[in-house]
Amino acid sequence: MTDATPLKLFNSLTRQLETFEPLHPGEARVYSCGPTVYNYPHIGNMRAYVFADVLGRVLSFKGYKLSHVINITDVGHLTDDADAGEDKMEKMAAKEAKSIWAIAEHYTQAYWADIKALNIRQPMEWSVATKYVPAMIAFAEKIADKHCYELDSGLYFDVASVADYGRLARAHTEEGEGRIEAVEGKRNAADFAIWRKTPAGETRQMEWDSPWGRGAPGWHLECSVMSGQLLGFPFDIHTGGIDHREIHHPNEIAQNQAFCCSGGLDVPGNSGAKLWMHNNFLVERSGKMSKSSGEFLRLQLLIDKGYHPLAYRLMCLQAQYRSELEFSWEGLGAALTRLKRLVMAVEQLRARLNDEGGSVIEGAEPGPKFAPLREAFAAAISDDLGTPIALTQLEQVVALKKVDLGQKLAVIAEMDAVLGLNLLALTRAELRLKPKAATITEAEIEEVLAARRQARADKDFARSDALRDDLAARGVEAMDGDPLGWDWKLEA
Ligand code: AMP
Ligand code: ZN
Repeated sequence: MTDATPLKLFNSLTRQLETFEPLHPGEARVYSCGPTVYNYPHIGNMRAYVFADVLGRVLSFKGYKLSHVINITDVGHLTDDADAGEDKMEKMAAKEAKSIWAIAEHYTQAYWADIKALNIRQPMEWSVATKYVPAMIAFAEKIADKHCYELDSGLYFDVASVADYGRLARAHTEEGEGRIEAVEGKRNAADFAIWRKTPAGETRQMEWDSPWGRGAPGWHLECSVMSGQLLGFPFDIHTGGIDHREIHHPNEIAQNQAFCCSGGLDVPGNSGAKLWMHNNFLVERSGKMSKSSGEFLRLQLLIDKGYHPLAYRLMCLQAQYRSELEFSWEGLGAALTRLKRLVMAVEQLRARLNDEGGSVIEGAEPGPKFAPLREAFAAAISDDLGTPIALTQLEQVVALKKVDLGQKLAVIAEMDAVLGLNLLALTRAELRLKPKAATITEAEIEEVLAARRQARADKDFARSDALRDDLAARGVEAMDGDPLGWDWKLEA
């Protein structure tokens, strides 16, 4: 289905909802800032990619041919966004006593595993920063004369050389600019390195020759170069988390302005992209989101505790992307229950359709009962990706009675193509993950449960309770009368 409801998206640069109008008819070109592959992503990072994925799916739903690029930062990102601190990659390589290349490979694979587990679609291109270093040097050469100056430590961008520097940050924070680095000789406090020279007498594991000496590119440069090269300036949408509104994106914007035209930001597109979109943070009160805390919240930790990763995706969809989302295990449990209900209902529908010898009729216009729900769904996602409401429309379709089964499943498939919960394939059995810590086998659980059923049939409630307590001691909660028909649950 292509739907004609105008798509409204919030542009962080203008602070307004704007109607999406593609720069190239029928196409949507999107760039998303990707991970720095020095460590595992935490689930907050993954919220940024669930958001970018939903955006891409909505654009596809609207009929646009999507060109999506996500970068992999394997060089240049310091421990502080504003050019200070150590190189994140070098630091981890030293800590793990591995080469930087091995670090990048390992954590890129780990990131991709999370992408897959969350049913995030593959972008057109994963652009890897180290493959673009010559292009970054060429970009820097083009802007160096008019916009940069050299210091002992590197080539710096003069933020006063472009109009409206920092507008994106000022639109969202009182002070305006984010944290800035004190480097002797900088012309403006916010000036940033686009090339970092290797200090004399040192060698870095990753370094390249450049007109400004041996060294490595600054982190902001890579996104300007890869987005411009792969999507062409200006492109439609640039995404990232709200932290990037402070430093990384203002600096990218300044570089893009310098590269394209030096024009001010009143002209949409001079920033390099027409729309700048940012997801709000996933927060957790006890600080488990911080990668410096011992056991931080990785997707694998959720899986190890028995939560299917798509329950986390659903949890993200329950909040609009611009709202802060608080993580809690209870919240995740509730999202898993909601997902189970959907999966079980759709599984039953599929089985019934199969028994009747019918099939999912895609492409055909579904009957009139579906129309209001489909319209409400389209309206919700067109209103700045209103996934919380869209989810309830999907649930109402699932609950519809006396409608054609094939059509119903087709409408569910159409909505799930946007939400990405994999409802047409996922089974109830796949959703029940055994926590890693659990040693009891399913056969053992079934045995005790059978004995318990017998005890209850015999009205031997003391024995029944004892069996339940025995299970509880082994981490299994027996769930009598669970509306979802799950008779047991493993506690992590
Ligand atoms: P990084 O690998 O640190 O560059 O972060 C990858 C992406 O995750 C960026 O778009 C960040 O803005 C985003 N991000 C970082 N922390 C969070 C969080 N707690 N919640 C949501 N997004 C985040
Ligand atoms: Zn970036």
